[in-house]
Amino acid sequence: RAFNDHSTVSKLLVISSVSGGGLLAFSDANAFQSYAEGDGKKKKVVVLGTGWAGVSFLKNLKSSSYDVQIVSPRNYFAFTPLLPSVTNGTVEGRSIVEPIRNIAKKKPFGVEFKEAECYKIDPAQKKIYCRSTDQGNTLGGNEEFTMDYDVLIVAMGAKSNTFNTPGVEEHAHFLKEIEDAQNIRRSIIDCYERASLPSISEEERKRIMHFVVVGGGPTGVEYAAELHDFAHDDLAKLYPSIKDYLRITLLEAGDHILNMFDSRITKFATEKFVRDGIDVKTGSMVVKVSDKHISTKEIKTGQTVSIPYGMVLWSTGIATRPVIMDFMKQIGQGNRRVLATDEWLRVEGCDGVYALGDCATINQRKVMEDIAVIFSKADKNNSGTLDLKDFKDVVDHISERYPQVQIYMEKKKLKTFDALLKSAQGNDSKQIDIETFKNALHEVDSQMKNLPATAQVAAQQGEYLANCFNRMEQCEKYPEGPMRFRGIGRHRFHPFRYKHFGQFAPLGGEQTAAQLPGDWISVGYSTQWLWYAVYTSKLVSWRTRVLVVSDWLRRSIFGRDSSRI
Ligand code: FAD
Repeated sequence: RAFNDHSTVSKLLVISSVSGGGLLAFSDANAFQSYAEGDGKKKKVVVLGTGWAGVSFLKNLKSSSYDVQIVSPRNYFAFTPLLPSVTNGTVEGRSIVEPIRNIAKKKPFGVEFKEAECYKIDPAQKKIYCRSTDQGNTLGGNEEFTMDYDVLIVAMGAKSNTFNTPGVEEHAHFLKEIEDAQNIRRSIIDCYERASLPSISEEERKRIMHFVVVGGGPTGVEYAAELHDFAHDDLAKLYPSIKDYLRITLLEAGDHILNMFDSRITKFATEKFVRDGIDVKTGSMVVKVSDKHISTKEIKTGQTVSIPYGMVLWSTGIATRPVIMDFMKQIGQGNRRVLATDEWLRVEGCDGVYALGDCATINQRKVMEDIAVIFSKADKNNSGTLDLKDFKDVVDHISERYPQVQIYMEKKKLKTFDALLKSAQGNDSKQIDIETFKNALHEVDSQMKNLPATAQVAAQQGEYLANCFNRMEQCEKYPEGPMRFRGIGRHRFHPFRYKHFGQFAPLGGEQTAAQLPGDWISVGYSTQWLWYAVYTSKLVSWRTRVLVVSDWLRRSIFGRDSSRI
């Protein structure tokens, strides 16, 4: 759906001691290469998670002045954008994973990996508690151990959000891990095989052949499209007697699917699904899932409807993991739903802990509070207004200090902001009313509250943090900065700046929709080729690239494999 390329970002980096205040100083990273490396004492950096954020951090970490330890229940990185393709065998699970030890061994410094899950973080003692995960083997029970850290990088992702809907955990499939995709693939074939048995009643056959997808976001939509392709391209030929029983229903509680996409894409996707015979039901909220029925509440009529199903996929967004909730309580974030960091990805309320990816969010409310303080300071006479020049200075300062705000001011074309400037320029007093501008910023606030939970954000955050760590030692050694910045105060790292490179929505039948920067929309067969090209380039290694491309070729020559293994 989304992708990233930020090779250029690393060229321009702002540097300093993370803890220092003061001015921002921009520098070319190469300016530091002549400085001597470290003082011999290595900081112990523990990374929790081998997903997009953790692996991006690891891949971009170049400084050998850290002792890096990775803890994750998965000893591989999974390329999640291709997970829906694993559910029907378009690509194989192993083609989209890269063993973490393959990535670690390429590092010029030692990286240790422990296959375990962290079940408790103790920020006071700088310690984490881990247990080995039972991977279904016979090697014994769950081993427990603790690890100390100097720096902890929390990149544990999130879990599927069930909204506490009864029966979801027990009866629905999720699509977050490779195992989930493989289980779904088996489940589809199970349904087809069972529906083919002669002893099955007509009614039961209809139920078994009804596939329901809950959630009209990108994952739900892509999965429905993949299932439709599998059923029509391959299974219809193998199970001709039951092919007409197939029904695919997409349930969405909101009033349209793909609500984070442009309305043209939503319309195109809905119309395509209708043509394909996928039943898109909007305004339908699932309230219960039992082993054979889904109960929905129709938002318009208030009616409760019971839908018989054979297989259900639950894809309604993400929620915070229990271990993170526990950590949040310890550091005074118990009243929040997501772990909050500042814009340098440092967890608020504790020392030496960074959080990135789906498990955290940058606390924009704090940003707004800071901005309010900046305004109050600038308004020395307490008049509630600023003259045009001071106002522009404040806006420049905010833009530099808070790049996310600047992005929204430019991209979303805040009308209030533009109108304010124009009216001030046109009026004699050239005074800007601070309150009106703050209200405009609240508009920004509501739009930028959370960065999207995407691989694109997670990977950029991992790269950003690694770049900061690569320069940390020099910055701590030379807090006054490189020669040409000396005398202007302590310098600091630039806050994390997210660059959006667009997002895809594959719609099946070799058609994809893409929303590219600048609100460019591209839909259809040619966009599918763009999708192939982008995702091939984003795969984490040449090995996985070759495997995925050969899977695509295999599928186009022989079709998808329907064995239930
Ligand atoms: P993850 O990638 O989920 O990684 C979390 C890591 O933490 C895992 O290694 C996990 O094993 C580990 N972990 C979990 N619990 C513990 C614990 N207790 N202790 C230690 N480690 C732990 N985004 C896009 O930008 N484009 C797309 O096309 C796209 N498609 C997607 C398709 C699907 C089907 C899904 C599910 C997601 C998709 N996403 C996409 C979203 C993207 O995958 C996530 O935003 C991204 O994975 C977040 O990265 P992360 O590193 O925060 O978490």
